[in-house]
Amino acid sequence: MSVIVFADQQQGKIKKAAQEAVEYAAKVAAQLGTDVSAVVVGEVANEELTGLGKHGAKKVLHVADARLNEIEPGVCAKILAEAVNQESASVVIFTHNFSGKAIAPILSAKLKAGLVTGAISLPDTASGFVVKKSVFSGKAFANVNISSDKKIVSVMPNTFNLEPGTATADVATFSPSISDADFKIKMVKVETVEGEIPLTEAEIIVSGGRGLKGPENWGLVEDLAHVLGAATACSRPVADSGWRPHHEHVGQTGLTVRPNLYIAIGISGAIQHLAGVNGSKVIVVINKDPEAPFFKAADYGIVGDAFEVVPKLTEALKAY
Ligand code: FAD
Repeated sequence: MSVIVFADQQQGKIKKAAQEAVEYAAKVAAQLGTDVSAVVVGEVANEELTGLGKHGAKKVLHVADARLNEIEPGVCAKILAEAVNQESASVVIFTHNFSGKAIAPILSAKLKAGLVTGAISLPDTASGFVVKKSVFSGKAFANVNISSDKKIVSVMPNTFNLEPGTATADVATFSPSISDADFKIKMVKVETVEGEIPLTEAEIIVSGGRGLKGPENWGLVEDLAHVLGAATACSRPVADSGWRPHHEHVGQTGLTVRPNLYIAIGISGAIQHLAGVNGSKVIVVINKDPEAPFFKAADYGIVGDAFEVVPKLTEALKAY
């Protein structure tokens, strides 16, 4: 009755959000009086794998197959189903990111396991297996009980602080029965932007809206982000207008982010935008309209013209 966690990697490095999922899985395992095995797929250096011990994984099952350097959800679900079987696991943990969102439902159907996505609490095992998640675009919470024998939970990134220890995990090569026929997706090209911080993992995000008037003014957002070591994001109309790439769009129809600090510049704070950012720990709003709805969700607000306020803020932070 062990716990399995899918620890996903990017370019051979275990993601921070995956480390959070491993620590979450270790806490679940402690509640259940059992151990955690992490499943890692793709080419990953041994120290990355043994390093998962710091986050509570007792064992790492490694599928060192270069075809899985980029996630293929159907194949990963098959691998995890075999791992669940081998380890007699009753709980599987994912990160609630692109791979978790793609793999967990397939595994759920395969194992006939109840699935809760986007968990923001550890399970309450006193009254079943009750996990808390946010619903209705962050307007309410639901406490969902998973009553099936096998249970799957995906954990919202940036919800639980990392508390690494010093242990190392045992690494075992895992050779599931997968063949070329299982691979249905052909990766044509992978484009990576050097130095760009993935939004779902960013601790600080500087985000711009239509108040910035046009793409030629995005230097304001980028300069402030650079000083803070932050990622950049935008509202949907900004991406729809082609001012910024779509992968920066946050909100109901874009990415959900939960940074420690979210700075919104020239964004009105429509409900659909808030749906993706209201899990941020601290929200700072810069808007020239004191009636902008975003101020109601803000921890700190600056009423002023972004073209005056933001350069001053950036200069002050540079001098800090
Ligand atoms: P605006 O609403 O135009 O607001 C611009 C703001 O900038 C204003 O508050 C203004 O006071 C301020 N401003 C103007 N000039 C300055 C200045 N010089 N200095 C400082 N402030 C200034 N939106 C999203 O963002 N994400 C989503 O995922 C999303 N999903 C949607 C899904 C649906 C089904 C629908 C119907 C809408 C969705 N929207 C989404 C759109 C959403 O409703 C809003 O229209 C959008 O968020 C507004 O973007 P904005 O705040 O950048 O622009």
